[in-house]
Amino acid sequence: MDCIFCKIVSGEIPSVKVYEDDRVLAFMDINPINEGHLLIIPKAHAATIHEIAEGDFLAVMSATRKLSAAVKKTLNPDGINLLQLNGKAANQVVPHLHVHIVPRWFGDGLTISQWEMVAGNMEKIKAIAEKIQREIVN
Ligand code: 5GP
Ligand code: ZN
Repeated sequence: MDCIFCKIVSGEIPSVKVYEDDRVLAFMDINPINEGHLLIIPKAHAATIHEIAEGDFLAVMSATRKLSAAVKKTLNPDGINLLQLNGKAANQVVPHLHVHIVPRWFGDGLTISQWEMVAGNMEKIKAIAEKIQREIVN
């Protein structure tokens, strides 16, 4: 398959690896938005949250927790953003699921995770909540 991250898994494209297990690979982002910016991916190709197998997703999240601890020990950031984008409308560029670990420092000037707080219409909020609740599959 013509997927950049599958090629990183196979070694066809080089990467700076930081962690690997049977299901997961983590490597440094080639265009870091802050020092320590890294990516965690499933080894099995899945484009988004809608395609990935539950076990692979849990493995990615478990590795994300482990790596966040290692990043905190190494770089002692003031905070960490975890980002995981699904679909072009959400600004996903590489269609192989990945979690970004972005270390954050006060005054680093990044604007990710900043949005304007505008109170919503409670009737609309409740109506959408009810529709979502009806679609939850256990
Ligand atoms: P997203 O799809 O969430 O918008 O982000 C894709 C991320 O993958 C970007 O942060 C980009 O810098 C990173 N990226 C794209 N191609 C490569 C690559 O070949 N190697 C590495 N290490 N990172 C990549
Ligand atoms: Zn892939």
